[in-house]
Amino acid sequence: MEEETRIAAFQWLKTISERSGGVFQRDDLTQGFEFRGRRITLVGPTGIWTPKGFQTPISITTIPDGPYDDGFTDDGVLRYSYRGNDPQHRDNRGLRKAFRERIPLIYFQAIRPGLYVAAWPVFILRDNPSDLCIEAAMDVSLTGVEHLTSPEDEFYTQSDSILSVRRYVTRITRQRMHQSAFREFVLDAYARRCTICRLQHPELLDAAHIIPDSHEDGLPIVPNGLSLCKIHHSAYDQHILGISPDYKVHIRKDLLDEIDGPMLKHGFQELDGNVIHIPLRKKNQPDKVRLDVRFTAFLSA
Ligand SMILES: [Zn+2]
Repeated sequence: MEEETRIAAFQWLKTISERSGGVFQRDDLTQGFEFRGRRITLVGPTGIWTPKGFQTPISITTIPDGPYDDGFTDDGVLRYSYRGNDPQHRDNRGLRKAFRERIPLIYFQAIRPGLYVAAWPVFILRDNPSDLCIEAAMDVSLTGVEHLTSPEDEFYTQSDSILSVRRYVTRITRQRMHQSAFREFVLDAYARRCTICRLQHPELLDAAHIIPDSHEDGLPIVPNGLSLCKIHHSAYDQHILGISPDYKVHIRKDLLDEIDGPMLKHGFQELDGNVIHIPLRKKNQPDKVRLDVRFTAFLSA
């Protein structure tokens, strides 16, 4: 029963995640969901959370700058502190049970009060009572990268291949969590509207990078972001439109002469020369140096 409920919880999180771009409201998680007539909560007053009627915790939560020294190590392993100093505390025993029985957990990381990004399923790799912590990672078999363990793959040849793959998957997960947080911060700064056309449906909005994240300077920070609707995001990435450092929209010349339907007319041609709508707070405004680098690329494309 507990196992099925846990799987239902993962599914429920996935549904919310698809709708919310990977961020979770605390209220949703404390209210939880109904499963076979029971209400299952996913977070609670304690960082290690065991819902009512459960034998083993369902989630572990980190609040950065909180009293616990938690987070990922450089090799992609999640270190999570025990509750308090007693390895025999009920919550810590719960983590030990999850470790011994290989029971998957959900990892929540607060990105601002009441708002989280998450990773699941997370498996405990090691229990360290002497350091008062556990080490965890994402499980390979449930994350769609089983092919990495094929003999042709370089990961396979490493002596600790399973651990390597696990660490690799954890790093990917961590990256995804950062992207979700980036999207949330950018959309919030732009009042959840496209900076170009003002469309305000979050499900149609992206946080675009000004300097792409494949570049060294493509950091996931708000001054390197723009809130764009899906069509303007694609157009920005394809150099169909550019944004100059004086915050003006530039539509590629050949599109201005084209004759087509209302999307081209209203969605592009009429926006040429418009000024984008930027956040009021200076620290959230798009960085002009970054815009300049990107605009130069647009002009030479
Ligand atoms: Zn738009």
